[in-house]
Amino acid sequence: MSLSNGRSYLAIPGPSVMPEAVLRAMHRSAPNIYEGELVDLTASLIPDLCHVAGTAHHVAIYIANGHGAWEASLANVLREGDKVLVPATGRFGHGWAEMARDLGIETKMVDFGRKSPMDMAKIETLLREDTDHEIKAVLATHTDTSSGVLNDIPALRAAMDAAGHPALLMADCIASLGCDRFEMDNWGVDIMVAASQKGLMTPPGLGFVFFNDKAAAARAAMPRVSRYWDWTPRAQPDYLYQYFGGTAPTHHLYGLRVALDMLKEEGMENVWHRHDVLARAIWAACEAWGQDGPLTLNVSDPAHRSRAVTSLRIGLPHGPKLRKWVEDQAGVTLGIGLGMFEKDDPKGLGFFRIGHMGHLNPGMVLGALGAIDAAFKAEGIPHGQGALEAATAVIAAG
Ligand SMILES: *Cc1c(COP(=O)(O)O)cnc(C)c1O
Repeated sequence: MSLSNGRSYLAIPGPSVMPEAVLRAMHRSAPNIYEGELVDLTASLIPDLCHVAGTAHHVAIYIANGHGAWEASLANVLREGDKVLVPATGRFGHGWAEMARDLGIETKMVDFGRKSPMDMAKIETLLREDTDHEIKAVLATHTDTSSGVLNDIPALRAAMDAAGHPALLMADCIASLGCDRFEMDNWGVDIMVAASQKGLMTPPGLGFVFFNDKAAAARAAMPRVSRYWDWTPRAQPDYLYQYFGGTAPTHHLYGLRVALDMLKEEGMENVWHRHDVLARAIWAACEAWGQDGPLTLNVSDPAHRSRAVTSLRIGLPHGPKLRKWVEDQAGVTLGIGLGMFEKDDPKGLGFFRIGHMGHLNPGMVLGALGAIDAAFKAEGIPHGQGALEAATAVIAAG
């Protein structure tokens, strides 16, 4: 008999858990879109979004998911025939590259596999070899949500500078923003893409493209940009509709306002610290389970692990059994493996992911870990002991 009656918990890497306050803010009748509260509220989002991103520059908002933000970022600064360098550390690096390719952009892929971070020396060498500076941009995923790899963006900036290469540095922070430290201006990032439904704790449907003046100059040099994707009117609107190229995403804006208030009140340093502690608690539990039996953390070095998502391999037939047990019996939904296929597991069913981004506290994390621990026992999956003790020790130490 199932014990899962109660509040269900979607512990996947986006959409993340939405705060009640965000949901309450959205539960209202449609506002006036021509004047008044919504116009002021929308304007108030811009400085707070920039604060979260660590930039004093510009942001354009799109009614889109992360894929829309990907396309928007490319469409503003790259034309058909331009070349980009894409260091990939998982499925999402490839996804952004595929989007570029379909826009007629020539993509030079450097694939670092599915469990390792970017090798900056390799990237520096490739950029040095590009003596004519044909590469117009480097498309870098900060956290690759499929592998759980966290890439060192300041080190990438340093490699580009060491090579003396003028390419734009474009970062995908869809999974990492509001979870792992990110400082757009201090880190020398020219363009950053994000979305509402991960660290920003708001339903899917808003995409963000942050850009600095170097990126704005690249946009200005473009022969044309599609009216819908053009970030210029969105970032400098005279009227509310210009932010969105049409009707405002009214209710999302109310939700986002509250989410940004929550981040502001907690403070970004605390937000990052909370994600760090909770991520380390999860890793401690996973390492304890992995002492005996099939579970392994996909990224072995904690220094290269995302604090928003952890990717795990448990193999077949355990993966589907474990995910099904925690969902049916404990009300916790874990993420599936993404792009983690293997020769004898073509769908990557032996992988799963724990999302730990956004509106999250020790009670939730320990609940999810407890559910997984129970699933190991209920399904007879071999595992090491002491996982929950290891997790609680990390949380107790803060
Ligand atoms: C979630 C995610 C995306 C895709 O976002 P969608 O909203 O699903 O389109 C892209 N990149 C990263 C790193 C992500 O985590």
